[in-house]
Amino acid sequence: MATVELTLTTDQIKPSIEELKQILQENGIAGAGGAGFPAYGKLSPKIDTLILNCAECEPLIQVHRQMLAFHAKAILAALNLVATVVGAAEILIALKPSYKETIEAVEAVMHQYPKVKLCFLKEAYPVGDEVITIYEATGKVVPPGSIPIEVGVAVFNVETAYNIYQAVEKQQPVTTKYLTIAGEVEHPVTVKLPIGMTIKEAVSFAGKITTEDFVFISGGPMTGSVAKGHDLITKTSNAILVLPRDHFVVRKKMSNDVIDMQRAMASCCQCRMCTDLCPRYLLGHPIEPHAFMRSATTGVTKDLNPFLDTFFCSSCGLCEMFSCMQNLSPRNMITSYKNGLIQNGVKRPEQPRWEEVNKIRDYRMVPEDRLVARIDLEKYEKKAPLFEGLKDAGCVNILLKQHIGAPAFSIVSKGQQVFAGEKIAEAVADSLSLPVHASIDGIVTEICDTYIAITKSSKGGSEE
Ligand code: SF4
Ligand code: SF4
Repeated sequence: MATVELTLTTDQIKPSIEELKQILQENGIAGAGGAGFPAYGKLSPKIDTLILNCAECEPLIQVHRQMLAFHAKAILAALNLVATVVGAAEILIALKPSYKETIEAVEAVMHQYPKVKLCFLKEAYPVGDEVITIYEATGKVVPPGSIPIEVGVAVFNVETAYNIYQAVEKQQPVTTKYLTIAGEVEHPVTVKLPIGMTIKEAVSFAGKITTEDFVFISGGPMTGSVAKGHDLITKTSNAILVLPRDHFVVRKKMSNDVIDMQRAMASCCQCRMCTDLCPRYLLGHPIEPHAFMRSATTGVTKDLNPFLDTFFCSSCGLCEMFSCMQNLSPRNMITSYKNGLIQNGVKRPEQPRWEEVNKIRDYRMVPEDRLVARIDLEKYEKKAPLFEGLKDAGCVNILLKQHIGAPAFSIVSKGQQVFAGEKIAEAVADSLSLPVHASIDGIVTEICDTYIAITKSSKGGSEE
């Protein structure tokens, strides 16, 4: 638990940045999506603008818009506290005009927070990519390879802001995760689960699976990955999709490096659609997927830039899921190549080329409805209503590494009784690292290098 106690309802109390960092760190708050950057690491007196990222541009995911509609007061209070502590001048609530209920909920409480402004984003993919959100909301371009604080901005997603509220106001660490379950299920739904539950258990809350040969995708259709039923819910999980094995999205995600290369060698026509629609290229960042495809497929290494530029790909997936009419896989090939460079000790270029924002960028943004149609998800576009009650779990396996940074280390022993919210693994000192907390009441039944298993005890029980 945090050693510094504050309350959002007491305006007179203003913690220092270090005190607030301590609270976020002790309560294990990582970005509730993406790489899960520890939230305390984002706090800085250099922040001028705080952005709440409620873009949620990945098709089918419906967590943030519903959470913000449900918890608008708490989330704005948390952002207001952070803005006050770091001295930020404004708080931008970045969302889409179509999120009507969310907008109404925010408008009903925002008069209490003069720094808060609504900021409407385009209904395009990937406006939820942090770098794109910042440009759309403020007109500032985060330099390639840099971080938002370089332009005086910090971005939190909705669930992260809610977790900050829970930590500050209720001294509750992160033990639960909200996620949407959609696709080939009877009742698409958005639920709140104990961290450490399996994907298979989570999917059961959406009723029966409606196809026989299916694959789980952990995350959205664009950036998520193929998962197994026994894989675990973590602090960064945000969706589970159930899709037929022969679905376009699944086939793309199960593609193989060798076949990707052979197909690219045979049929990349250098049309450069992948580059012309690449969101990072259009922002002036040094990434040109068509140039990478040309160099990689011909083996010409005279110009190293197409290879080194792979460090500046955001892995949004637009090039391979939408742009390429030859159905090639530039994103997968770029990612494999980048990982190879990293494994071989090659570092990201320190002074990357950087150009002006492309003048016709606005006309090259990909509308979400076009994307949904192109990747064949229209039939799964259904409401996935949010149920706030915490789902019950008989046992959980809580990973010691759930996000970017050093993994936590166990501080409990086998057979020990623990309670939901109790710290079971400690962060590594002097590293970017977060502790881990029990997500249910129970007995520690297993401790290994990667996780701690807790089985519900007859005395205890997780919150309903
Ligand atoms: S869009 Fe496809 S075919 Fe065209 S250049 Fe890019 S990878 Fe090659
Ligand atoms: S995945 Fe493709 S479209 Fe997205 S940033 Fe990388 S190269 Fe550009």
